Amino acid sequence: MTESESDLPIEEAPAPSANPEKAPKVRDLSLCPCKSRLPYGECCARFHYGKALPETAEQLMRARYSAYFFGRIDYLVDTTHPDKKTPQTRAGIQALADVARWKFLTILSSSKGQAGDKTGKVEFVAEYYIDMVRHEHHEKSRFRRSRGLWKYVDDKG
Ligand SMILES: [Zn+2]
Repeated sequence: MTESESDLPIEEAPAPSANPEKAPKVRDLSLCPCKSRLPYGECCARFHYGKALPETAEQLMRARYSAYFFGRIDYLVDTTHPDKKTPQTRAGIQALADVARWKFLTILSSSKGQAGDKTGKVEFVAEYYIDMVRHEHHEKSRFRRSRGLWKYVDDKG
Protein backbone atom coordinates (compact mmCIF):
# COMPACT_ATOMS: atom_id res chain seq x y z
CA MET A 1 0.00 0.00 0.00
CA THR A 2 1.34 3.38 -0.93
CA GLU A 3 0.63 6.46 1.04
CA SER A 4 1.39 9.93 -0.16
CA GLU A 5 1.76 12.83 2.21
CA SER A 6 -1.17 14.62 0.67
CA ASP A 7 -3.50 11.77 1.54
CA LEU A 8 -2.85 12.11 5.24
CA PRO A 9 -5.15 14.13 7.45
CA ILE A 10 -3.75 17.55 8.22
CA GLU A 11 -2.87 16.80 11.77
CA GLU A 12 0.70 17.81 12.27
CA ALA A 13 1.86 21.38 12.39
CA PRO A 14 3.59 22.45 9.18
CA ALA A 15 6.74 23.44 11.01
CA PRO A 16 8.77 20.43 12.05
CA SER A 17 9.21 20.21 15.75
CA ALA A 18 11.13 17.93 18.05
CA ASN A 19 8.39 18.24 20.58
CA PRO A 20 5.27 16.40 19.47
CA GLU A 21 3.27 18.27 22.11
CA LYS A 22 3.63 21.37 20.00
CA ALA A 23 1.75 20.03 17.03
CA PRO A 24 -1.73 19.96 18.59
CA LYS A 25 -1.35 23.46 20.00
CA VAL A 26 -1.37 24.88 16.50
CA ARG A 27 -4.89 23.69 15.98
CA ASP A 28 -6.10 24.20 19.55
CA LEU A 29 -7.78 27.41 18.44
CA SER A 30 -9.59 25.90 15.50
CA LEU A 31 -13.02 24.46 16.05
CA CYS A 32 -13.24 20.86 17.13
CA PRO A 33 -14.07 18.37 14.36
CA CYS A 34 -16.90 17.00 16.53
CA LYS A 35 -18.92 20.17 15.75
CA SER A 36 -19.34 21.16 19.37
CA ARG A 37 -18.42 24.73 18.28
CA LEU A 38 -15.73 24.70 20.94
CA PRO A 39 -12.05 25.06 20.13
CA TYR A 40 -10.40 21.66 19.77
CA GLY A 41 -8.15 22.52 22.71
CA GLU A 42 -11.17 22.96 24.98
CA CYS A 43 -13.01 19.97 23.58
CA CYS A 44 -11.77 16.59 22.38
CA ALA A 45 -8.05 17.42 22.66
CA ARG A 46 -8.35 17.18 26.43
CA PHE A 47 -9.38 13.55 26.06
CA HIS A 48 -7.00 12.70 23.22
CA TYR A 49 -4.04 13.93 25.24
CA GLY A 50 -5.15 12.41 28.54
CA LYS A 51 -5.70 15.75 30.27
CA ALA A 52 -9.26 14.81 31.14
CA LEU A 53 -11.61 11.85 30.93
CA PRO A 54 -15.03 11.95 29.27
CA GLU A 55 -17.70 12.30 31.94
CA THR A 56 -20.51 11.29 29.62
CA ALA A 57 -20.98 8.74 26.87
CA GLU A 58 -21.67 11.58 24.45
CA GLN A 59 -18.32 13.18 25.22
CA LEU A 60 -16.63 9.89 24.44
CA MET A 61 -18.68 9.57 21.26
CA ARG A 62 -17.50 12.99 20.14
CA ALA A 63 -13.92 12.27 21.11
CA ARG A 64 -13.97 9.05 19.11
CA TYR A 65 -15.32 10.86 16.06
CA SER A 66 -12.57 13.45 16.38
CA ALA A 67 -10.07 10.64 16.81
CA TYR A 68 -11.18 9.21 13.48
CA PHE A 69 -10.87 12.69 12.00
CA PHE A 70 -7.26 12.99 13.15
CA GLY A 71 -6.37 9.33 12.67
CA ARG A 72 -5.71 8.78 16.36
CA ILE A 73 -5.91 5.01 16.18
CA ASP A 74 -4.54 4.40 19.67
CA TYR A 75 -7.31 6.46 21.21
CA LEU A 76 -9.94 4.50 19.31
CA VAL A 77 -8.46 1.18 20.38
CA ASP A 78 -8.09 2.34 23.99
CA THR A 79 -11.69 3.48 24.19
CA THR A 80 -13.12 0.24 22.80
CA HIS A 81 -14.61 -1.81 25.61
CA PRO A 82 -12.20 -4.62 26.58
CA ASP A 83 -14.99 -7.18 26.16
CA LYS A 84 -15.31 -6.16 22.52
CA LYS A 85 -11.65 -5.97 21.59
CA THR A 86 -10.43 -8.62 19.22
CA PRO A 87 -7.14 -9.10 17.39
CA GLN A 88 -8.87 -7.40 14.43
CA THR A 89 -10.04 -4.30 16.30
CA ARG A 90 -7.04 -2.15 15.47
CA ALA A 91 -6.89 -3.23 11.84
CA GLY A 92 -10.58 -2.50 11.37
CA ILE A 93 -10.26 0.99 12.83
CA GLN A 94 -7.11 1.65 10.83
CA ALA A 95 -8.71 0.52 7.58
CA LEU A 96 -11.60 2.96 7.99
CA ALA A 97 -9.39 5.80 9.18
CA ASP A 98 -7.10 5.33 6.17
CA VAL A 99 -9.79 5.86 3.57
CA ALA A 100 -12.45 8.06 5.15
CA ARG A 101 -12.38 11.86 5.22
CA TRP A 102 -14.71 12.94 7.99
CA LYS A 103 -17.00 15.82 7.23
CA PHE A 104 -19.69 16.21 9.82
CA LEU A 105 -21.08 14.77 13.03
CA THR A 106 -24.68 15.17 14.13
CA ILE A 107 -25.71 13.81 17.51
CA LEU A 108 -29.37 12.86 17.25
CA SER A 109 -30.00 11.72 20.81
CA SER A 110 -28.39 10.49 23.98
CA SER A 111 -29.91 8.34 26.67
CA LYS A 112 -28.30 7.77 30.04
CA GLY A 113 -24.52 7.87 29.75
CA GLN A 114 -24.32 10.57 32.39
CA ALA A 115 -21.89 10.90 35.26
CA GLY A 116 -23.95 8.61 37.51
CA ASP A 117 -24.72 5.96 34.88
CA LYS A 118 -22.99 2.73 34.01
CA THR A 119 -24.35 2.46 30.47
CA GLY A 120 -25.36 4.90 27.80
CA LYS A 121 -26.55 5.16 24.23
CA VAL A 122 -25.78 7.82 21.66
CA GLU A 123 -27.46 8.01 18.28
CA PHE A 124 -25.58 9.92 15.63
CA VAL A 125 -24.99 10.44 11.94
CA ALA A 126 -21.43 10.78 10.74
CA GLU A 127 -20.89 12.11 7.25
CA TYR A 128 -17.70 11.18 5.46
CA TYR A 129 -16.20 10.78 2.04
CA ILE A 130 -14.32 7.90 0.52
CA ASP A 131 -12.81 8.67 -2.87
CA MET A 132 -15.02 11.75 -3.18
CA VAL A 133 -18.14 9.69 -2.61
CA ARG A 134 -20.32 10.86 0.24
CA HIS A 135 -21.37 8.37 2.90
CA GLU A 136 -23.64 8.68 5.90
CA HIS A 137 -23.16 6.41 8.84
CA HIS A 138 -26.20 6.31 11.13
CA GLU A 139 -25.55 4.44 14.34
CA LYS A 140 -26.95 3.92 17.80
CA SER A 141 -23.84 3.32 19.82
CA ARG A 142 -23.79 1.55 23.12
CA PHE A 143 -21.32 2.63 25.77
CA ARG A 144 -20.47 0.98 29.06
CA ARG A 145 -18.06 1.79 31.82
CA SER A 146 -15.00 -0.36 32.33
CA ARG A 147 -13.09 0.30 35.55
CA GLY A 148 -15.05 3.51 35.83
CA LEU A 149 -14.18 4.81 32.35
CA TRP A 150 -16.59 5.13 29.45
CA LYS A 151 -15.86 2.71 26.63
CA TYR A 152 -17.49 2.06 23.29
CA VAL A 153 -19.29 -1.28 23.16
CA ASP A 154 -20.98 -1.62 19.77
CA ASP A 155 -23.51 -0.23 17.31
CA LYS A 156 -26.42 -2.34 18.54
CA GLY A 157 -28.16 0.33 20.57
ZN1 LIG B 1 -14.82 17.84 20.26
